[in-house]
Amino acid sequence: APRKLAAGNWKMNGDLAALAEIDALVAAHPAPGCEVLICPPAVLLHPMKARVDGGAIALGGQDCHAKASGAHTGDIAAAQLKGVGASYVILGHSERRADHGETDAVVAAKAAAAHAAGLTAIICVGETEAQRDREETLTVIASQLDGSIPEGATAANTVIAYEPVWAIGTGRTPTNDQIAEVHALMRERLAGKVGDASQVRLLYGGSVKPDNAAQIFALPHVDGALVGGASLKAADFGRIIAAL
Ligand code: 13P
Repeated sequence: APRKLAAGNWKMNGDLAALAEIDALVAAHPAPGCEVLICPPAVLLHPMKARVDGGAIALGGQDCHAKASGAHTGDIAAAQLKGVGASYVILGHSERRADHGETDAVVAAKAAAAHAAGLTAIICVGETEAQRDREETLTVIASQLDGSIPEGATAANTVIAYEPVWAIGTGRTPTNDQIAEVHALMRERLAGKVGDASQVRLLYGGSVKPDNAAQIFALPHVDGALVGGASLKAADFGRIIAAL
């Protein structure tokens, strides 16, 4: 099985003072039993890099542009993330799909750019509550995977995160059976697209907390988590890391 990954997505939270949380995390987990990743707002990547240097925490961005450079005000290129210390980038998060109209094709183009820059892309998929109620979850996930994963994806440069939209920031999670069902479907679907599909890390995200992490991580084909709110405090995220 692939090495487990505990990934924190700070979203639009945190400032220079929050770097103290990174110091606490580095100090508390000098040799974690899983890979640990923090994806802060891009403006914090460079100062954060100095705090994690020599430690066991990797850094990532939360988005990148599909182009390598140019006239795209406000956007950030994958190589620019890489240049300030990122090794990962989250792509196609449901908040970006909703707030910025990102389609599967846009996500695939961004992932290709991330790969070209040497970043590992964490490609996010997930159904809305209405889609789950209509029993469309598996078809939605399959079609998001088909559309969002670019040519050239491998287990080394691609991670998939299953984040049901209705579970994000709500304190609600799918049942164990529902998570396991989607993760099994994803593993199977990847086999047609990625050569070493059994080694691709499949993360669950959506209201992962210290108290439910161990139970979720025990499910088949769950290789870690993409954590929002509970990644902001070293104490909480540390308990999730320990559960992996
Ligand atoms: P929460 O853990 O706050 O529900 O957020 C999940 C998420 O969207 C991570 O990308």
